[in-house]
Amino acid sequence: MKYPEVRNYVGGSFVGTDRPFIEVLNPSDGSVISRVPLSTQDDVDAAVASAEKAFPAWSATPLKERVQVFYRYKTLLEKNIDELAALITEENGKVASEARAEVLKSAELCEFACSLPQIAPGEVLEVSRGVECRIERYPLGVVAAITPFNFPNMVPNWSIPNAIALGNCLILKPSELVPLSAGRIAELLKEAGLPEGVLQIVNGGKEAVEGICDHPGIAAVSFVGSTKIAKVVYRRSTATLKRCLALGGAKNHLIVMPDADKEMTSSNVVASMSGCAGQRCMAASVMVAVSKTDHIIERMVDHARKIIPGKDIGPVISVAARERIEKYIGEAEAAGAKVLVDGRRTIVKGKEKGYFIGPTIIDHVTPDMRIAQEEVFGPVLVIIRAKDVDEALKVENASPYGNAASVFTESGATARYVTEHASAGMVGVNVGVPVPREPFSFGGWNDSKFGVGDITGRGSIEFWTQAKKMTTKWNKESGTNWMS
Ligand code: NAD
Repeated sequence: MKYPEVRNYVGGSFVGTDRPFIEVLNPSDGSVISRVPLSTQDDVDAAVASAEKAFPAWSATPLKERVQVFYRYKTLLEKNIDELAALITEENGKVASEARAEVLKSAELCEFACSLPQIAPGEVLEVSRGVECRIERYPLGVVAAITPFNFPNMVPNWSIPNAIALGNCLILKPSELVPLSAGRIAELLKEAGLPEGVLQIVNGGKEAVEGICDHPGIAAVSFVGSTKIAKVVYRRSTATLKRCLALGGAKNHLIVMPDADKEMTSSNVVASMSGCAGQRCMAASVMVAVSKTDHIIERMVDHARKIIPGKDIGPVISVAARERIEKYIGEAEAAGAKVLVDGRRTIVKGKEKGYFIGPTIIDHVTPDMRIAQEEVFGPVLVIIRAKDVDEALKVENASPYGNAASVFTESGATARYVTEHASAGMVGVNVGVPVPREPFSFGGWNDSKFGVGDITGRGSIEFWTQAKKMTTKWNKESGTNWMS
């Protein structure tokens, strides 16, 4: 194995375990690069105990001091970007440029956390003569973040900087498919001066997640992953009266109007569907082609054919994922859809054991097909034809998901109409991946998110804190009234 076995991180140290292990694979060549323990409830208990010990001192540290750790951590992310990006590529498969972009995004998340003293101070008002009301934000205590495989560095950093800067102690449960980046995050935070016990890592899968959901000492849980598991985590952690924000899967629709700019639209749509091998919750999944858009589709086919697997596009995460994705394509073809670009059975020379699928574009898909309704999570774009913008919106609105939607058009009126009527939490105009960047917050609608608030930006301040409302009076002469 290229890397030593993965260990849990408790009380500022990596700790060994005798739990069963599973292999960590490099999806580019199928090689075993490490192994990761499947933690149990006892491991969650140990992490919570350590976090509880650290909480009094960390929460009593002023916010302006707490964020100093994240100034230093941001610098360390930038300084170590080559090594961190290489690690992402090894465990997740995405290509070097995508992995670097992921680390830079983590650094941007730290910028927001560092700005918290500027944007999250309390409020104060004299509500009647000599009487003052004031609001202060307090951390929740021990909190947890459960993360998916597709962004091993960035998604943990959706929760770590904000939750910790706001005074909480956090337990991270990274995806068992990509646990190596999380270990490096812990090391860099230690180097940046984060005190022992403020961050713990509990590795594993179902049992560790259930242990977190059930633990009475954990006050809040953020989850990012598939809708199926988001529902499980939301139900289970709120059943034990925790605060929970669970982000789920996606089926993002891009509505392309006939007046859309051919070059910009074709290149942006293909980049959106193929970037990170389609394994982004913001990736284009369905293009709703309105009326005469064949000229744009032809250009998209040109762009997609130029993408070289192994160089421009990495593998998908596992053999099982590749089989699932190829099955969706096969079913659509059998049901009468036309595969314009076919990425199935892609072999990359020198990486014959990698789980590659090339970009795939399928035209004349109908809304009743499984591939039009379910999350495929691979480099596959289906095209559904619509006669006008209302028919296109009907297709988009029928999806149970609601992460992102975008419209490509040169008409301001059409853009406004689509962004107003799309049933998604993040909408775009002429943007293939409409990610709201800080200080704007990230989060979808419908089956793409359960719980109130958003996971990043301003929305996360509310999620990771509780407000204390104080009313104070010092003027003894003020007499007696209804609020005495
Ligand atoms: P996943 O749901 O399989 O796993 C997510 C986490 O849940 C992992 O830590 C995993 O260990 C844990 N888990 C898996 N099965 C479990 C079970 N039965 N019980 C309890 N915990 C379990 O998701 P994934 O495959 O790692 O990630 C891909 C999914 O994440 C896609 O659906 C994608 O759309 C979604 N995603 C969503 C967003 C968003 O912002 N909405 C962002 C990134 C990824």
